[in-house]
Amino acid sequence: MDPFDKQRKEMTANQIRARGVKDESILLAMGNVRRESFVPDAYSELAYSDRPLPIGEGQTISQPYIVAFMIDALGLKGGEKVMEIGAGSGYAAAILAEIVHEVYAIERIGPLAEYATSNLVREGYGNVHVLHSDGTLGWDEHAPFDAILVSAAAPEVPESLKNQLVVGGRMVIPVGTNPDFQQLLRVTRVKEKQFEVENLGDVGFVPLIGQQGWEETQSDAIV
Ligand code: SAH
Repeated sequence: MDPFDKQRKEMTANQIRARGVKDESILLAMGNVRRESFVPDAYSELAYSDRPLPIGEGQTISQPYIVAFMIDALGLKGGEKVMEIGAGSGYAAAILAEIVHEVYAIERIGPLAEYATSNLVREGYGNVHVLHSDGTLGWDEHAPFDAILVSAAAPEVPESLKNQLVVGGRMVIPVGTNPDFQQLLRVTRVKEKQFEVENLGDVGFVPLIGQQGWEETQSDAIV
């Protein structure tokens, strides 16, 4: 057996199932997506470790468990249209692509949008569409979405994203002003103009930078 296949199986059992993720479609997806293909070569030996890893441009691919936990919180059944903000390596988008019908993933850093695209194409995820843009504004052309996964931390829930959810749709998003930890929120659009917010616990994410996120400083100017 390929050593990565063995590590992937163990990761799914020990880091995901053992910690309480029960949704079989998520467990199957975690067992299928080749995480080693979504990290730089220098980190491939660490691809299945229980931690985030650097992917360049000062950004990280999230810890496998947090990806599974956030997707679990979206309550997907299969067949949905989902948007991800913060495509990064494309890993979380690939997990979503295993579960749902179409994935629209936005990334603000050009080289990472290219990195995500090439990883997803090489791994055969033709149902993921990557856009290089400010994701805090969403993707109007393809809205509304059944679910939205935000993979970077916002100062507050962006109005544009709330408005791009279907009624009954859910968004999972880290929100908070502390750079070290934020609150993971689930926002459900219960009626056209009514949203329910639940706090799922503390997480640590890189900042969501954009018009309805954190202001861009010179050091993180868009490229
Ligand atoms: N989901 C990714 C993890 C990405 S880390 C993975 O599986 O690898 C968060 C990403 O959000 C970074 O790549 C960062 O550049 C991106 N990001 C930050 N602000 C953004 C914005 N306004 N729109 C789109 N992407 C953004």
